[in-house]
Amino acid sequence: MLGLFSYMRVATLPLAKKMTKRVSHGSDMDALDGNAIAGRLFEHFGSEMTTVRGRCRHCGTSAPVAELRVYARAPGTVVRCRACGDVVMVLVTIRGSTRVHVEALELR
Ligand SMILES: [Zn+2]
Repeated sequence: MLGLFSYMRVATLPLAKKMTKRVSHGSDMDALDGNAIAGRLFEHFGSEMTTVRGRCRHCGTSAPVAELRVYARAPGTVVRCRACGDVVMVLVTIRGSTRVHVEALELR
């Protein structure tokens, strides 16, 4: 069992580190960065979105989508502004189709 576990660590860690980065500010140990939703955003918008800047409509902070905080453990994926912590995007996948709600994020 230990051998299998070791194999899995070797096989999955480099990809996980490349695709996402843990955001560790205070108690936000479960937060990922915006790269965690890159594939779903590409599927929805049809283009690479992590480098697109978004302006938070709560506090006015502008930052690339890759720098937003992503909480993937909720029933839907919740994306929060790194500066004020308010929700700027929600992704819900139903029957293989992803719905993206971005009312609180002005994409540029
Ligand atoms: Zn904000």
